[in-house]
Amino acid sequence: MAAIALKRIRKSYGDLQVIHDIDIDIDSGEFVVLVGPSGCGKSTLLRMIAGLEEISGGDLDIGGARVNALSPAERDIAMVFQDYALYPHMTVEDNMSFGLKMRGTSEAEINKRVANAADILKITDFLHRRPAQLSGGQRQRVAMGRAIVREPAAFLFDEPLSNLDASLRVEMRLEIAKLHNRMKATTVYVTHDQVEAMTLADRIVVMNSGVVEQIGKPLDLYHKPASLFVARFIGSPTMNTIETTAARGDAITILGRTIDLPGAPLPEGGAVTFGIRPEDLVRCPVDEAWFSGEVAVAERLGSQTYCYVEIGHTRMLTVELPRDAEISAGERISLRGNARAVHLFDTRTGKRLN
Ligand code: ADP
Ligand code: MG
Repeated sequence: MAAIALKRIRKSYGDLQVIHDIDIDIDSGEFVVLVGPSGCGKSTLLRMIAGLEEISGGDLDIGGARVNALSPAERDIAMVFQDYALYPHMTVEDNMSFGLKMRGTSEAEINKRVANAADILKITDFLHRRPAQLSGGQRQRVAMGRAIVREPAAFLFDEPLSNLDASLRVEMRLEIAKLHNRMKATTVYVTHDQVEAMTLADRIVVMNSGVVEQIGKPLDLYHKPASLFVARFIGSPTMNTIETTAARGDAITILGRTIDLPGAPLPEGGAVTFGIRPEDLVRCPVDEAWFSGEVAVAERLGSQTYCYVEIGHTRMLTVELPRDAEISAGERISLRGNARAVHLFDTRTGKRLN
C-alpha cells in the first residue's frame, strides 16, 4: 500500500478554476474521505488522483514518486464508481478477472485472487451471473471485487453507495468499514453524505468550492470545526448558528438575553456567530434560560426527540431531548447550554474564534 501526497494541486477547465491549490498528505493504509456539497470538486480531485483527468498545476506523488505524467494503468490504483461500470455481457467472474487477463496475469493467480475477493465480499454464489441478474448491492460488491483483485497501491471510491436504497447503504457502509479493517488499504473515498464521512474516515477532508476547509479526524471536526462551513456541514441535525453584533468582553447578547462566556475571545462589538449543537441544549427554569420560545414541531424518533423551537422572528432552534421528554407542539420551552459547548465564529470570515 502506498502513501499519496497532493501538493498545491490545481485544476482549470479553460478560464474556470475548479480546484485551488489543494494540499493533502494521505498515509499508507489510511482511509481518507473527501466530503462537501455537490459541485465542490470532489470527483475532479479523485479523477486527477486516478489519472482520468489532467492535473493543471502542482505535484501528485504516489508511493513517494511523482505520477502527474503517468497513465491510469501505470499509477496502480483501482477506482470504484457510483454507477459500478460493469460489463453487462460478462459474468461476475469475467468482470472481476478481465483486468488481470489484460495484464497477462497467470490463470492460476487470477483464479486465486477472484476466489479470495469473492469470499471476502460474499459473492461466490453469483460468480456465473451477469450484472443484470444482480441487485444493486450485489453489483456494488462486484465493482469492489474488481478493484480488490488488482491488489492496487490504493483504492479510490466516488460515491459508491449513492445509488442504493437507505437500508442497503447502511449495510454496505458497514461492509466497507469491515473490508478496510481487514485489508488496511490506502483509500480515498468521495461522498456528499456526512454520516458516511464520519463513520468511515480515519480523516475527513471537508471541501468547499474547490478549496479545503478543514482536514481532521471525524470527532475533531465535530467538536472543533474550524469554520462556519464545517460547523454546518458536519453533524445531523445541523448545528444551531445565530449571528450577533453584541459581543463584549466575556459575554454575548442574543435576542435580548446576555450569555456569559468566561474566557471567550470575543471582539468588542464584533460580528460574531454563536453556535450550539442540538444535543448541547437542555431544558431549564425560565429565569436561567438562554433561549425561550414556542415548540413548532416535536419529532419523536423513538431513540430521542427533536424539537424545533421558534425563538424570535423567523428564527428556529433545534434541540435534542430525551425520547420520553414531556413536550408537544405549541408549548413554551426554556433552554440553556453549557458555555464550554458553545462555538464562536467571526461572521465576516467564517473562521472559528474559540
Ligand atoms: P463534485 O464531485 O464535488 O460534485 P465535480 O468535481 O464533479 O464536483 O465538479 C466540480 C466543478 O467542476 C463543478 O463546478 C463542475 O461544473 C465543474 N466541472 C466538472 N467537470 C467539468 C468539465 N469537464 N468541464 C467544465 N467544468 C467541469
Ligand atoms: Mg462528484
